[in-house]
Amino acid sequence: MSRLSTSAKRRVFFMNICVVLLIFFMLFRVGWLMSSAGGDFVKMAHDQQTRDRLISPRRGNITDRNGEIIAGTQTAYAISVIHAQIKDEEKTAAALAQTLQLDYAEVLKKVQKRVALVRIKDKTDAATAEKIRAMQLDGVMIDEDIKRVYPYNETAAQVIGFVGKDNQGITGLEARYDSILKGEKGRILTYTKANGTEIPNLPQQREAPVDGGELVTTIDINIQRYAEQLIKNTVDVKQAKSGLIIVMDPQNGEIYAMANYPSFDLNKPYEITPAFEQSGSKNDILNRMWRNFAINDTYEPGSTFKVITSAAGLEEGAVKPNDTFECNAGRNVADRRIKCWRAPRSHGTQTFVQGVQNSCNPVFIDVAARLGGEKFYDYMIKYGFNKKTGVDLPGEAVGIMHKRDKIGPLELAVMSFGQGFQITPLQLISAVAATVNGGVRITPHFAKSIKYGEKTNDLVYGSGERIISKKTSDTMREILESVVSEGTGSKTYIPGYRIGGKTATSQKLPRGSGKYIASFCAFAPAEDPKAIALVLINEPQGVYYGGQVAGPVMQQLMGNILPYLGIKAQYNEKEKEFAPLTAENYVGMKTNDAKQRLEKLKIITEIVGNGENVTKQLPAPGELINAESKIILYTK
Ligand SMILES: [Zn+2]
Repeated sequence: MSRLSTSAKRRVFFMNICVVLLIFFMLFRVGWLMSSAGGDFVKMAHDQQTRDRLISPRRGNITDRNGEIIAGTQTAYAISVIHAQIKDEEKTAAALAQTLQLDYAEVLKKVQKRVALVRIKDKTDAATAEKIRAMQLDGVMIDEDIKRVYPYNETAAQVIGFVGKDNQGITGLEARYDSILKGEKGRILTYTKANGTEIPNLPQQREAPVDGGELVTTIDINIQRYAEQLIKNTVDVKQAKSGLIIVMDPQNGEIYAMANYPSFDLNKPYEITPAFEQSGSKNDILNRMWRNFAINDTYEPGSTFKVITSAAGLEEGAVKPNDTFECNAGRNVADRRIKCWRAPRSHGTQTFVQGVQNSCNPVFIDVAARLGGEKFYDYMIKYGFNKKTGVDLPGEAVGIMHKRDKIGPLELAVMSFGQGFQITPLQLISAVAATVNGGVRITPHFAKSIKYGEKTNDLVYGSGERIISKKTSDTMREILESVVSEGTGSKTYIPGYRIGGKTATSQKLPRGSGKYIASFCAFAPAEDPKAIALVLINEPQGVYYGGQVAGPVMQQLMGNILPYLGIKAQYNEKEKEFAPLTAENYVGMKTNDAKQRLEKLKIITEIVGNGENVTKQLPAPGELINAESKIILYTK
C-alpha cells in the first residue's frame, strides 16, 4: 500500500467531511419528518388504512315559547358506495338510480370512482333506504343521517331561517344559533387495506356524535299564525306590495310574532313564491324573498315617530300636556313652508294632547324647536336610533340619520314628525315600547332559553338603561290612549280594552312618487302594557292613511291576542252595552215567557221547534253571550 500524497490525503479528508455532513442532513431530515411535518405523513398513512363514515348529530329543535316544535330533525339515510367492494358496477348503478330516482349515467360515474367512499344520495327516507338494504348490494352503505323539517312551512320563515345541504344554518335563527343547534359529528372508523377493502377481524370503532342544544324561542305559534293570516288578508284586499306585523312584550322585549307577507316555504327555500316581484336574477328574487322587512330594511317612520318627539319634549319640560298651539295649516321654517297634513284646512287652536290626537305637524315642529337640535339629537341617540337594537337575527340594519352638526332648523322641523331619516320597523316598535313601559330600553329578542337534555339555561338580557322618567312614560301612555279613544287611532278602539297607539302614513322615497307605507303602533292595556304591536302595510292601493288602513287590522289583532294573553275585558259605564251577558236558565220555562224575557234583555233569540216549553238552550246557563251573538232555545 503506497503512501498517499498530500493532495490525495486532502481529497480523502474532504470526502469524509462530505459524508459526515450528509449523515447529519439525513438524520436531521428524519427527525423533521417525525416531528412537525411528520404528523401529516402519519395521518396520511392512517387515512389510507381507515375510512371514516361521519355520523350526523341530531340538530337541536327550535320551539315556540310553549314547546311547540317549529324546526325539527327527522332521521334520514345517506346512501354511499365503496368502489373496491362493488362486484358489478352497471348493475349496482342501475339499481341505485332506479330506486333513488337519479340519473343512471351520473350514478355510474360515482360508482366507478376509484376512491374510498362516494356519497350517492343524502336525506333518503326510511322506506327507500329499506328497499336498498333489501337488495343486499355489495359495496353499498346505508348510514343514518338527519333531515331538517319545518312543520309549519311558511310560518315565521324569515325569523326561523333554514339550513343548507350539510345542515348548517344559512339564514334566521338557524344561522344565528348554529353553533348551539348543530352539535358535533361522530364517526365510524373502518380499517381497510391499501386497495380499499376492509381488513377483516378488526373491530369497528365508533365515536358517538354529540347532539345539538334545543332553542326555546319567545315566539307564540298561535299569535304568529294569527298575525300572518291577518297581514295576508290585508295585503290581498289592499293590493299592497307587502306587509308586516310585529307583536312584542314591551316590558322585556320578548317577540311573540314577526309576520312578513308574502313569505316562502322553509321546506323549499329555493322555490320562488309567485307573489314576489319576478324581476332580476333568481338570486336577486331569492334574496328579496328571504328578507325580513322588520330588521333588514329601513323606512321613514313618519307620524309614529311623534311618540318620540312628544316623550323628549315632556321629559325636558319643553311642553306640558295643556300647552296650546296654533295649526295655521303649516309652519314657516327657514324660508320654507312646511304644511300640516290637513292643509289647506287647519287644526286651529289645540292643546298639546289634542295635537297628538290630531297628529298635527306644526305642533311637533314647535315642540322640536323648543327642544333645539342638540337636545333632539341627544334623544335620537338615547333611544338608540344610531345603533342596532341587538335583536338576535343576522343582518340587522341600522338607522340612517343626519350628523349632529348637520341638523339646522329645517332638518329639525322635518325630523320632528318622522321624516328626513330612516330606521327599521323593529327600531320603531322598540323605541315606542321603551316610551310606554316605564321608560327603559329593551333588547328585542327571540331566544328565551337553551336546553341540553334535561338542563335548561335561561338567557338573560339585563335591564336596559333609562331613557325617560316613569312620570313621562305614564303621561305618554295616557296621551296615546286618547289617540285611540278620541283621535286618529279610533279604528282600533275595542270596548273593554284600554289601547294606546299612534298612526302613520309615510311617504316612500322619492317623495311625490304616490307610494305610501300605512302603519300603526299600538299597545295594551294602556295602564300596564302587556303587548305592543306594529302593523305596517307597504304600498296599499286606494285609501292609504295609516289610521284607516292599519287601524282596523290593529283592532282585529288586539281583539284576538289580548284575550289569548289572558287579559280580561273591563267595561266602563259607557261600554256597558258591549259587555257580554251571562246566560240565564230557560230550560223548563214556557217558550213565550223565555222569549219575552230575552227581548227585554235585548238578546237576539232563535227558537227551534214549536213546542210549548224550552227543553234545551245554547249557550248553556252560566256561559257568556257576546254582544253580537245570540241564544238558541230548543223546544219540543
Ligand atoms: Zn294641523
